[in-house]
Amino acid sequence: MNLILFGPPGAGKGTQAQYLVKKFNGYQISTGEMLREEIQKNSEVGKKIINDMNDGKFVNDEIVNKLIKNAVFDPDKKNKLIFDGYPRSLTQAQNLSAILKDSGQKIDFILFLNVNKDTIIKRIEKRKILENRSDDDLSTILKRYDSYMQTTKPVLEFYSKNSNFYEIDGNLKIDEITTKIEGLINV
Ligand code: AMP
Repeated sequence: MNLILFGPPGAGKGTQAQYLVKKFNGYQISTGEMLREEIQKNSEVGKKIINDMNDGKFVNDEIVNKLIKNAVFDPDKKNKLIFDGYPRSLTQAQNLSAILKDSGQKIDFILFLNVNKDTIIKRIEKRKILENRSDDDLSTILKRYDSYMQTTKPVLEFYSKNSNFYEIDGNLKIDEITTKIEGLINV
């Protein structure tokens, strides 16, 4: 089973992805996490992306698509992919469809965690204290929210036509969201 967790920053994608990883031995494919690792390693990619990441801007598609391709073609991860934070634009969604097809896979569930701006601000402020992420200050949060609204909303419109698309109230408590996801995917 492959699954996309979709929604603005702070919607709880990462938390639910970690739960799903345990539940069905899946792999969390978090582009944000992969990009933060590149920065920590101070790699060539890390040096290129650090400014955009800290500004809450999207990292260039070429870099992100390459990370995704490696994960999708990893035989250990085949049909165990839990996408968290990818795709974020129509081009990325088209890229994902193409590489999944090339690797003989498909998406089984697209779960949209719908959450309002107030909840996001509260959650990210809490996460900033817990995880100490440099892109979690209020003005960056608002920039990331705006990028999401501008660039990712068309992806939402694109996916929402699919029969395997489900919208979940992301303002609910973590375990309530988990219960809803379990009910949908029946794991
Ligand atoms: P996240 O951990 O998903 O909230 O992502 C943190 C940051 O990583 C974003 O604000 C972007 O700068 C970058 N990023 C993560 N995923 C993507 C993506 N699919 N496309 C472009 N940039 C991304």
